[in-house]
This record gives sequence, C-alpha cells and structure tokens, in this order.
Amino acid sequence: MSFALQENFPELKPPLTPMAIQEEASRCLECGGAYDRAPCASACPSGIDIPAFISALHKGDFASANRIVFSENPLAGTCARVCPTPVLCEGACVLSFVGLPAVDIGRLQRAAADFAPNRLNVPSLKDHTGRVAIIGAGPTGLALAAELAGMGERVTIYDENPDPGGMVRYAIAPYRQQVEPLDSEIQPLRERGVKFRFNTRIAGREAFLALEAESDAIFLGVGLGADVDPHLPGQHLFGVWQALAFIRALKDGNPLAVGRSTVVIGGGNTAMDVAREALRLGSEQVIVVYRRDRESMPAYGYEIQEAEKEGIRFNWLAAPIRFLGTAWLEGIECQYQELIHRSGSRSEPRAIPDALFTLKADTAIIAIGQSVRRELSEWVPGLQFEHGKLIVNPENGQTRNPKYFAGGDVVGGQSVVEAVKWAKQAAKGIHQYLAGEK
Ligand SMILES: Cc1cc2nc3c(=O)[nH]c(=O)nc-3n(C[C@H](O)[C@H](O)[C@H](O)COP(=O)(O)OP(=O)(O)OC[C@H]3O[C@@H](n4cnc5c(N)ncnc54)[C@H](O)[C@@H]3O)c2cc1C
Ligand code: SF4
Repeated sequence: MSFALQENFPELKPPLTPMAIQEEASRCLECGGAYDRAPCASACPSGIDIPAFISALHKGDFASANRIVFSENPLAGTCARVCPTPVLCEGACVLSFVGLPAVDIGRLQRAAADFAPNRLNVPSLKDHTGRVAIIGAGPTGLALAAELAGMGERVTIYDENPDPGGMVRYAIAPYRQQVEPLDSEIQPLRERGVKFRFNTRIAGREAFLALEAESDAIFLGVGLGADVDPHLPGQHLFGVWQALAFIRALKDGNPLAVGRSTVVIGGGNTAMDVAREALRLGSEQVIVVYRRDRESMPAYGYEIQEAEKEGIRFNWLAAPIRFLGTAWLEGIECQYQELIHRSGSRSEPRAIPDALFTLKADTAIIAIGQSVRRELSEWVPGLQFEHGKLIVNPENGQTRNPKYFAGGDVVGGQSVVEAVKWAKQAAKGIHQYLAGEK
C-alpha cells in the first residue's frame, strides 16, 4: 500500500470558506494610502499591495484580487501557503499591536491566488530578445523567468532535478505545501515560451564556457547544496538520516522508516520541520538536541512554540558525539555544552568535560544546515563568496563577473518570498545589462 501524503499530512492552514473570507477581509483596516504604504505591505518582500487585494476580496471582486497578487508575485499561491507570515506581513499588522489577532493575510492571499491561474499579465516588450540562461528551477529561477518572459527576453532554465521547484518541491514541509499550486504557477511560463532543460547539471568550467557562448546573460539561482555532514562515528547505522534526504523521500511518497524514539539534531527551521514530520510518521517521542540555548535557536520563535505544542521536547546545550548500535541505531551519546559569550559575535558552545549522557533512539535526523555551493567560484572567473554568500550588487543582483547575476538562497535568501524579491531585482538588472550590451 502506498503512503498517502494527503491523509497523513493534512494542511496546517486549510483554505478559508467563502464566508470566512468575507469575515476576515472585513477585519482589515486598509491602512496606508496614496502617500504611505501599509505596514503589512512594507513587510512583504515581494511588495504585494495587501490592503488593495483584501479590499477587492471584501467587495467580492476576486478577479481584481487575483490580478493584484500575481502582478507583484508570480508565485503568490505558493507564498500564500509557505511564507513565514508571523515574521513578515502578519507580524506587521496593526491589529496585533492592539492585542487582536492579525488579519490572516496568508489565507486571504491564497483565496485570491487560487481564484484563477496567473496569466503573467505583464506587457511583453517584443523588441528585447536577449538570451538568458537561468541555472536552477527553484523559486528564484522560476520567478525570474516570469519577470524576464514578461519583458520579452528569451529564457532557458537548467536544473539538475527531473522536475521544477527546487526546495519548494523537494523540501518544504508537506503540511504546508505538497506540490500544488507550483505546477499551475509554472504553466504560464511554458506558455510564454520559457524553455526547461531538466536532469541537466551545469558543472565545470567547460560547461559554463559552452553556456556563455550561447547566452547573453547567465543567472545563478542555484540555492544551497547538500546537508552539512557532522562526521560523527556511527553515522552509517540504519535509522540515521540526513534531513534533506529524509524530507525528499517523504515528499516523493516513500518516507524513510522512523522508529518509536526520534532524535533530531539541529536548531533551525529545518530541524523543526523534520521533528514535526517524524511525529506525523508515527514516532511516539521526538527530542530536538541543540548545542546552544533556546534563545540562540535560528528557528522562528513561533515554529518552536508550535513544535512544543505538538509534544516535541527539547534538549538544549547538548551536542551528539557518536551514534550507538551495531546495525540499527540504538542510542546517541551526547555531551553537555556551555556558551562562551564574545562581545560583538554569536556565543560559541564549548563541551563540558565528562558531562556525557545517552539518549535512547531508533531514529536520528541530522538537520544542521546546508552546504554552500562554493565550487562555482572555481568554474566561473570573478565569483566570490563571503560568509557563505555569493557576493552580488544588492540593487541588481549582478556578481563581480558582469555577465553573471545571482539571487535567492545562494546570496543569503531564506524563504520563497525573498527568492521572489531577489528575482525581481535581478530581472531589472539583467534587462538593463542586455539593453547596454545591445
Ligand atoms: C527543509 C526546508 C524547509 C523550508 N521551508 C520553507 C517554508 O516553509 N517557507 C519558505 O518560504 N521557505 C522555506 N524554505 C526555504 C526555501 O525553500 C528557499 O529559500 C528557496 O527554495 C530558495 O530558492 P532558490 O531558488 O534560491 O533555491 P532552491 O530552491 O534550492 O533551488 C535551486 C535549484 O537549482 C538546482 N541547481 C543547483 N545547482 C545546479 C547546477 N549546477 N546545475 C543545475 N541545477 C542546479 C537545484 O537542484 C535546485 O533545484 C525551506 C527550505 C528547506 C531546506
Ligand atoms: S507574499 Fe508572503 S509576506 Fe508577502 S503578503 Fe503574501 S503571505 Fe505575506
């Protein structure tokens, strides 16, 4: 019997009913105006005019609401489901400052976006026909393709995977978004003539030289790489999984086995996701082990609270030192840590000598971050990384090699809506660069 994602991972935020849409839309105070942007709209990285689309919904004019959200964000349906709204638009809603719940902007946006597919209603400027190669069909590459296709450029997207979407398809928790509406957001790109080359990894100087010869500009929307490897003894044991492989198998409908006791290693949003996924896959006890304290966790505070509410436990100031077992995982030896505070930088964990303890576990999921795709700087002259980010001009996404632009996670983005923001900036940058080249 195949594993049914829909049944086991029901949506955390299902769509609003028609009546709830009206009720929720009526709560919006329509802040802002001709001279001032509403706080929620200023907090949206993709620049959606939130009061305008909510006002349209309130009037029952779904077609206008739909146009408004897609005019700023070609992935508005995806963002509506996956955006960390409590720290973005909803976090800025004035209602929350007077003790009321913020307007449910995410779900209202979903109602607007789901009304009809994006028609890419940006006017096409047919006199520009620059050839742009985009490496990476994640949200950054897709949003950029939408912008450039609307500007009349000829776009080809290359991706090493068999399907588009990057981390949205392969990593975002299925209780937020399984796949749809990703595919229906990509369809208009195909209709606009964007070409896709899947199962095609662009790697090595030769491959980039070939691409340079047939393109006027190249965009790197390559995201981050594989899971960081902790290099711990016993990692090979059955039941020790890396986070990205674990989630990908789950989203493909073939989840990896989890036992009764799962230990998740890490303190970021991915760690919160895999902990909640393990719980839904049947683990009775899920413990997150993190080497710093609660306040230092990179995960959003609201994600930690939601995980706690679901019954996930935390073991702060502890780090794994080896996985125990013969063929299957049986436990994890850990060591308590203390934090060494340094002025001006993040406090560093230091192992407390002899402070060892063992957690019984039959599953461990390692979620300590993704690697940086530094190899790019060996393949493309001029590319430089600093603090794990590819350096670009933040105004237009241009790298230090003028033919190359970049955006999204590879330059430090952390969410789909930030990917859209980077794509919009790079689209203008590439368009101007191509006009200059002409
Ligand atoms: C587990 C997890 C959960 C997340 N949950 C959320 C969430 O709930 N909400 C949210 O907003 N964000 C979430 N994110 C973050 C979000 O997914 C990313 O910020 C976003 O996908 C970045 O988009 P991108 O296009 O820059 O990179 P990616 O999505 O990583 O896409 C890059 C694509 O480029 C391809 N590629 C790379 N190098 C090459 C090459 N040399 N040749 C060909 N193809 C190549 C990759 O295979 C990939 O398909 C999550 C991330 C993870 C890992
Ligand atoms: S795109 Fe995301 S951040 Fe922007 S308004 Fe919509 S839900 Fe909020």
